[in-house]
Amino acid sequence: MGDVIKEQFGATDGAGVDLFTLNNSQGIELKITNYGGIITSIKVPDRDGKLDDVVLGYETLDEYLSDSRYFGAIIGRYANRIARGKFSLNGTVYSLARNRGENHVHGGIKGFDKVVWEAKEVGSSEGVGLELAYLSQDGEGGYPGNLQARVTYILTDNNELRIEYFATTDKDTVVNLTNHSYFNLAGNGTVLEHELMLESDQFTVVDKDLIPTGETRSVSNTPMDFTCATPIGARFNQSYEQLIFAGGYDHNFVLRESSKALKPAAKLSELVTGRTLEIFTTQPGIQFYSGNFPGGSINGKGGRVYEKHAGCCLETQHFPDSPNQPSFPTTVLKPAQQYGHESVLRFSTTQ
Ligand code: BGC
Repeated sequence: MGDVIKEQFGATDGAGVDLFTLNNSQGIELKITNYGGIITSIKVPDRDGKLDDVVLGYETLDEYLSDSRYFGAIIGRYANRIARGKFSLNGTVYSLARNRGENHVHGGIKGFDKVVWEAKEVGSSEGVGLELAYLSQDGEGGYPGNLQARVTYILTDNNELRIEYFATTDKDTVVNLTNHSYFNLAGNGTVLEHELMLESDQFTVVDKDLIPTGETRSVSNTPMDFTCATPIGARFNQSYEQLIFAGGYDHNFVLRESSKALKPAAKLSELVTGRTLEIFTTQPGIQFYSGNFPGGSINGKGGRVYEKHAGCCLETQHFPDSPNQPSFPTTVLKPAQQYGHESVLRFSTTQ
C-alpha cells in the first residue's frame, strides 16, 4: 500500500496551496495540488523500470496561476465549448464569459482550474487517494445554482489512477467536468509518433471556431479514424477541413458503447519506452486534443520547452456545446440528482 506526503506549494486568493505526493507499491509517483486540482506530475516506469514524468506542467504555483493551457487541471463547470457563451434553461437565458473568441471554453475566466479546492487524504482498499471539494456559488461565472463539486483521485497498486467526479446543485444547471492532463509517454519530444486507438466510430463535426455543427460523422476513410492504433502525426499532411480548422486534432469522439458503465475509451502507446496508457470512462465522449499550441512554444518543467504537439489530451466528457444541442446527451443537473462519473487511467508497459 502506498502513501501520501503533503508539502506547501504557495498561496493564492488568501488560501494556502499544497502539493500532495502519492506513491504506490509499484513505483508510480503522482503529484497533485489543490490549486485547480492540478496533476503536476506522474512518474511511471518504462519497460526497463526507468521512471519518467509523462505529463506536461510547471514547477511553481506562480506559473500555474498564469497558465492558459489548463495543464493537468480539473475543468468545470463546463469543459469544452459553449457557443457564444449562452444557453437557455427552463426559459431563462444564461450568459457566460466569452473567453475563446466569441465562445465560452472550460468554465470561463476563472473556472475550476483556477480556484483553491479543499483537500482531504483518503484511503481505500484500492490504494491511496486525495479528495478535493469546491463549492461554486450560485451565479459564479454566470452559471445557475450552488454547485458542490467533489473530485477524488485514487492511485491503486495496479498502476491505475481512478478519477471520480461528483456534484450536486440546488437549482437546475449544466455540468461537464473533466481532467485536462497533457500526456507524453516518452517524457520528452512530441507525441506525433505515439500510437493512439480510440473506441469510437464517429466524431462530432465542428465549424471553424470548433463549435459542433450538430452533425455526427463516421470516422471511416477520414484522418479521424483511430479505430486501429495509428501514429498521431501520420495524417497531419492530409488536407481535411476538420484538421485545418483545429490545426490538428481537437475533436470530440463519440464512444462506441453508449452505456454509463465503465468502458474502454482510448489506448495511447509509445513504442520506444514501451509505455501504454489505457483510459476507461463512464462518459459518452472523449475530446482528443493534439496539443496544437497556436501561441507557440511554452517553458515547462525541468527546463523543457514544449513545442507544438509536445503532449496530447484525452478528456473524457460530455459533448461540447451540449446545452445548445438538443440531439446530444443532456448535461442538465437537477437538485434531486447526483452528478457522478469515473475515469480510469491505467499505465502499463509492453516488451
Ligand atoms: C480544447 C482546445 C484548447 C485546449 C487548451 C482543449 O480541451 O479543446 O481547443 O485549446 O483545451 O485550452
